[in-house]
Amino acid sequence: MTKIAIYPGSFDPVTYGHLDIVKRALKIFDRVIVAVAHNAEKEPLFDVPERVELLRRSLKGLKRVEVDDFEGLIVKYVKRKKTNVVIRGLRMISDFEYEFQMALTNRKLSSSVETIFMMPSESYSYLSSKLIKEAAFLGANLKAFVPPFVEKAVKFALQRSKT
Ligand code: ADP
Repeated sequence: MTKIAIYPGSFDPVTYGHLDIVKRALKIFDRVIVAVAHNAEKEPLFDVPERVELLRRSLKGLKRVEVDDFEGLIVKYVKRKKTNVVIRGLRMISDFEYEFQMALTNRKLSSSVETIFMMPSESYSYLSSKLIKEAAFLGANLKAFVPPFVEKAVKFALQRSKT
């Protein structure tokens, strides 16, 4: 039986931290579906098709990975994909409270869905999409945080949002 895991999030934009989690998940699961949520963030820098495209480019070459988007409840999406596993990344203890609440809420909504938490390499454990956007806004070089084409897209999108 093929083991499929769903890795949901906003991915606004994808970072090396997200990519690290996908690669770790591939060591355990046969297929990983990275699923961009439509409703996760109120004012995203990138729209959903742009986030999907940046993820696809970042994950190019990884054969067992698919990028998709979804609306509504993650537990319903997980069932539509005929699996019961949700992957989430845990960076710091500060992630824990929100992730714990969400995992238990999802379990209440569907007792068959299991959330698995994975830790990134410590070099990415402080990275967040939010931080990257703030750093880019202040003119920082994003080389250590995101692939080059993501950095370019972030800078372009920040310019776009100013006009
Ligand atoms: P959210 O779904 O909360 O909007 P993101 O899209 O930023 O969050 O991230 C999706 C998932 O990846 C979440 O579980 C988040 O904790 C995790 N994540 C984000 N950045 C990192 C990182 N640097 N290392 C490990 N996990 C991360």
